[in-house]
Amino acid sequence: MTELRKRYLLDEEEIPRYWYNIQADMANKPLPPLNPATKQPLRAEDLYPIFARECCLQEMNQRDPWIEIPEEVREKYKYYRSTPLVRAYGLEKVLGTPAHIYFKNESVSPMGSHKLNSAIPQAYYCKQEGVTNITTETGAGQWGASLAYAASMYGIDSAVYQVRISYEQKPYRRSIMQTFGAQVTPSPSMSTRAGKDILTAHPNHQGSLGTAISEAVELARSTPNCKYCLGSVLNHVALHQTVIGLEAEKQMEMAGEYPDIVIACFGGGSNFGGMAFPFMRHLLGGEKGKDHVRFIAAEPASCPKLTRGEFRYDFGDEAGYTPLLPMYTLGHNFSPANIHAGGLRYHGAGVIVSQLLKDKLMEAVDIDQLESFEAGTLFARAEGIIPAPESCHAIAATIREARKCAETGEAKVILFNLSGHGLVDMASYDKFLAGDLQNYTLSEEVLTRNISELDPLQP
Ligand SMILES: *Cc1c(COP(=O)(O)O)cnc(C)c1O
Repeated sequence: MTELRKRYLLDEEEIPRYWYNIQADMANKPLPPLNPATKQPLRAEDLYPIFARECCLQEMNQRDPWIEIPEEVREKYKYYRSTPLVRAYGLEKVLGTPAHIYFKNESVSPMGSHKLNSAIPQAYYCKQEGVTNITTETGAGQWGASLAYAASMYGIDSAVYQVRISYEQKPYRRSIMQTFGAQVTPSPSMSTRAGKDILTAHPNHQGSLGTAISEAVELARSTPNCKYCLGSVLNHVALHQTVIGLEAEKQMEMAGEYPDIVIACFGGGSNFGGMAFPFMRHLLGGEKGKDHVRFIAAEPASCPKLTRGEFRYDFGDEAGYTPLLPMYTLGHNFSPANIHAGGLRYHGAGVIVSQLLKDKLMEAVDIDQLESFEAGTLFARAEGIIPAPESCHAIAATIREARKCAETGEAKVILFNLSGHGLVDMASYDKFLAGDLQNYTLSEEVLTRNISELDPLQP
C-alpha cells in the first residue's frame, strides 16, 4: 500500500548555517559584469551606491564556497523553515508513473513563496549598514510582498514599483505590500525620468520587470540613505536561496533517495539556482553516484531567454542604468506578453546560470501558458495545493519527465521546487477555467530585431 502523503522536516539545528556559493567551484567562472561607459570589468565598490555593501561583496565572491548566514537571519528563517519536502504520491498515482516525485514546498513561507529567503538577509544587511529606505521592483508582487514584510521587520521604509499589468491582474498583492507599510507605484510611472521616457515613447506600456527595475534604481540613486534590493537574477540572491537545496539534500537523505532530475521554474534564476546549485556541487566535484543528475529550468514559451535567447552582454533593465551583464537574453527592450506568471516575465537570466547553460551543465525547456495551467490544475487536484502560475511551469516539466518514465518503465527520482502557492492568483485560474487564456509565441522577427539593437560587444 502506498502512503497518501509523506513530509520530511528538519530539526531547527539542522537549518543551514552557511549558504553555498557555486561560483567558487565553477571551472569556468561567470564573465565579469562591465561598466557600460568604460566597458571595464566592474568592481564590488562600483555597486556600493546602489546595493548594501555586503550584497556587493557576495555578488563578486568567486573564492569562498560557503558563506555564513548571520545568526539574526537564521533566527528569522526559523519562523518558517525548514520547509517540507513532500513525496507526491497523489501526483504519481494520477500519472501512473513509476517515477518517485518529490517537491520542496516553499509556498509555506508567510508570504507564500521562496522570495522571503533573500528578502530577509537583504533587509538585514541594509539595517546593519544604517540604511533607512529601500526600493525595489516586483512583477506578480511576490518579491514586493516579501521585501515589504522583511523591511517592516527591521523598521525600514519600502517603496515598490510594481509592473503595471500585474498591478491590475493581481490587486491583492498590492494590498499585501501596503499592509506591511510599503508605498506601491505601478510601473512605468511618471514619478521617474525612466518612467516618463518610456511612457512618452509608448503611452500604453504595460510595464515589465525591466521598466520597474529602472524606476527603482533611479529612486535609490536620487534618495539619500536609500538602497535598492533585487529579488532575482543577481548572484547574491541565488546564494541566499541555496537554503532550499541544502535543506532538500538532507531531507532526500531522510527519504533514502537521491534525485536523478532536479527541476525548477525560471524567471531570473533564483529559485532554480537555490534548489539546483547545492546538488550541482557534487556534479562539479565529480562525485560517483551524484554526477549523473540532470538539471532542468522551466521557462515560459512567451519569454524564452534560455531556449531561444542569445548569450550577450546586455542591461538588466529597460533604461540601461545597470551594468552590462554576460547572460542569455531576449534584449532589454523586449516587452513580454501578458502571461499570468508575472514572476517569469524577465528578459534575461542570471550570469551564473547563463554560464552553466553555456557549459551544458544544465538544460532548459519552454512551456506554453495553457500547458502550465493544465499541469497546475492536475497538481492541485492530486496534492491539495494550488501552485503559483510560475511554479506551474516546474510542475509541467516534471509531468513531462514522469510521463517519459511511464513509457520506459524507469523509476527515476524527480525533485522539483514548488516556489509558491497561487491563492492570490485565483483571477488567473478563473480565466484558465473559463477557457479565456491563450498561448503566446515569441516571433523570430521580434526576437531578431531586439537582439540586433543590443550593444555590439560580444562576450
Ligand atoms: C518570483 C517568482 C519566481 C521566479 O523568480 P526566480 O528568481 O526565477 O525564482 C518563481 N516562482 C515564484 C512563486 C515567484 O514568486
